[in-house]
Amino acid sequence: MAQIHLVKEDITRMKVDAIVNAANTSLLGGGGVDGAINRAAGPRLLQECRTLNGCKTGEAKITQGYNLSAKYVIHTVGPYWNGGKANEAALLQDAYTNSLMLAKENGIRSIAFPNISTGVYHFPKETAAQIAVSAVNRFLSQHPYDVTDVYFVCYDEENYLLYQQLLNRPSM
Ligand code: ADP
Repeated sequence: MAQIHLVKEDITRMKVDAIVNAANTSLLGGGGVDGAINRAAGPRLLQECRTLNGCKTGEAKITQGYNLSAKYVIHTVGPYWNGGKANEAALLQDAYTNSLMLAKENGIRSIAFPNISTGVYHFPKETAAQIAVSAVNRFLSQHPYDVTDVYFVCYDEENYLLYQQLLNRPSM
């Protein structure tokens, strides 16, 4: 049985096979979690990203982790929140599912997700958390023997509390 974990942490510190980057379509770096991952991984990450020709919203691409503890970075692009009528929910679900598919294809057992789209992309946090948890649960039930540990890495208190409730975890 795969396990879902909830942590409040800087994702660049996670000791897992892969961390997920909430990137933008250029894959050429940005602020927020993307900036933190690029700083921690070192310049070779951006060099490899330059060879990938970007990434569409909802899709995912993989690179090495370089100076990170994680062996790989899976770069996915969440949707920018535009009021909810531009397919944002389905695209956010795709970002989680396609990241997990790529993890499975690369033999990744443990993977850590940030709260994709809930920073500068302004996706409402509660809905985003519901989509994230249901996408991960669905993937794990459909592929029970591949990925064994999924970490939801919350950086801000609001997201952490939302995930605590959704995952039924006791408060600390
Ligand atoms: P997006 O453009 O997808 O909204 P952001 O990087 O702006 O991406 O934010 C996504 C989430 O990542 C936010 O909830 C933010 O709090 C979180 N975040 C920012 N820095 C880190 C970090 N170092 N580790 C984990 N999560 C982070």
